[in-house]
Amino acid sequence: MSEDKKRPAKGLVVVNTGDGKGKTTAALGIALRAVGWGMHVLVLQFIKGAWKPGEIKAADRLAPELEIVPLGEGFVDPDAESPDDTDVRMARAGLERYRAAADSAKYDVIVLDEINYAVKYGFVTVEDVLKIIREKPERLHLVLTGRDAAPEIIDAADTVTEMREIKHPFQKGSKAAKGIDF
Ligand code: ATP
Ligand code: MG
Repeated sequence: MSEDKKRPAKGLVVVNTGDGKGKTTAALGIALRAVGWGMHVLVLQFIKGAWKPGEIKAADRLAPELEIVPLGEGFVDPDAESPDDTDVRMARAGLERYRAAADSAKYDVIVLDEINYAVKYGFVTVEDVLKIIREKPERLHLVLTGRDAAPEIIDAADTVTEMREIKHPFQKGSKAAKGIDF
């Protein structure tokens, strides 16, 4: 963790939710901003994507201050009984990884990207996330993203933003755009 006497002792819990675009992008914006101040940021991505998003490619250039870990990688388990099994194990491994990272006191900011989605689909419980918030190291900033944040998580957070969709080219059948959507 970077030593900055001017930084408030209390870390914040930020939630980006809603059906509009920008939840992960805004979390990455915080990451970029924090790295600019020499802070150490870990982004744990709870949802596996079909392709490597641009931020993972960019993270190497901002290493070691920025680390992005796609939890889905290495979790394509041919012996899993169902895809859901793999998702649950991936999400559980993500929680373990979070705990180890929080205990290490190495990070100033930890982003749990799509954790709300993991809760919504039952890969982790609301209580798992509330426990993370309750037991968060005092100075650590936590950023949680994903649609449909649970009301209890919204209650427990300091900053909550709901992205609301007004329009998105996807509605007209356009594909995800490189650099914009991934
Ligand atoms: P982003 O990663 O672009 O900030 P997001 O985190 O707000 O999006 P997710 O639900 O995580 O939203 O989106 C998963 C994928 O779908 C991303 O590629 C994202 O760009 C895209 N997406 C986000 N919102 C919408 C939307 N309202 N309609 C269509 N596609 C969307
Ligand atoms: Mg997202």
